[in-house]
Amino acid sequence: MGPPQSVEKPILRFKCRGGRRIPHARIIGSRPLMNPDLERLIELEKVDREGLRLAEEVAALPKRIASIEEKLAEHKAAVEKAKAGIKGNEAGRRQLEADIKGFHEKIAKYRSQSSSVKTNDEYRALMHEVEFAEKQISVCEDKILELMIGLETEEKALKIAETELKAESADVEKEKKEAHVRTAEDEKLLGGLKGKREQLRSGVNDSALQHYDRVMRQRKSAIAEARDQKCLACFVMLRPQNWQEIRTNEQIVMCSSCGRILYYDPAHEAAPPPEPPKKKTRTRAAASEAAVEPETAPETTSTP
Ligand SMILES: [Zn+2]
Repeated sequence: MGPPQSVEKPILRFKCRGGRRIPHARIIGSRPLMNPDLERLIELEKVDREGLRLAEEVAALPKRIASIEEKLAEHKAAVEKAKAGIKGNEAGRRQLEADIKGFHEKIAKYRSQSSSVKTNDEYRALMHEVEFAEKQISVCEDKILELMIGLETEEKALKIAETELKAESADVEKEKKEAHVRTAEDEKLLGGLKGKREQLRSGVNDSALQHYDRVMRQRKSAIAEARDQKCLACFVMLRPQNWQEIRTNEQIVMCSSCGRILYYDPAHEAAPPPEPPKKKTRTRAAASEAAVEPETAPETTSTP
């Protein structure tokens, strides 16, 4: 979607509907073309919107770098977590081994005491303690085995996390470099747009430009196509008289609802029924003359 394609043609004068003469309006094919201010404003809006897009992209760079680094931090955290898991596993095993040693010492103590006990009850109590300690040793050994199995998993997890971190680090560096290159390109493009912008602005009359700037500031777009008697930005129906004016593209007409400057693109008009060849010939003939009456063919054939 966009304004009608403009093809450089000799500058001509043409007579518009009301008999006024629009200076420097150009004629393309058989179609009287646009008010030059309108044409420049349409171009200016494209430049301004591209400028906004580029400026937003440039402004987003620090955020993008931060999010890239955040991703890397996540991988670093995964490595640290895997390492901590292995450390915890080893500490747990050391603790259990110490516990087993303690239980063995207790058993040895109970056994030596058993040789000097006086009653059967005392002996049975000591043997009960020995049995309990032996059970505890067995529990500890089971836990050690579990930890050893767990360690294998944790070591695998560490290896994966380290591999991912390495790959991610390389990606992040590449991505950061790309982001910087892109930003430099954007800044260069922005510089280029500035010149084009100034050139376009200098060619537009002040009041139209002021209106354009105001709407652009408020709405981030100041130009809208009018189609099927509607503003395509706010979709409000246009008054018939405005619609007729807009369709000639001869003057700057604003949408009464959103304030955007409206233009008409005949290429977007619903396809008219096939014209009789006679009519076409007439229109072409009219075009060959410098003074062109507003086209009557689309008016009568394509008005919805
Ligand atoms: Zn509107």
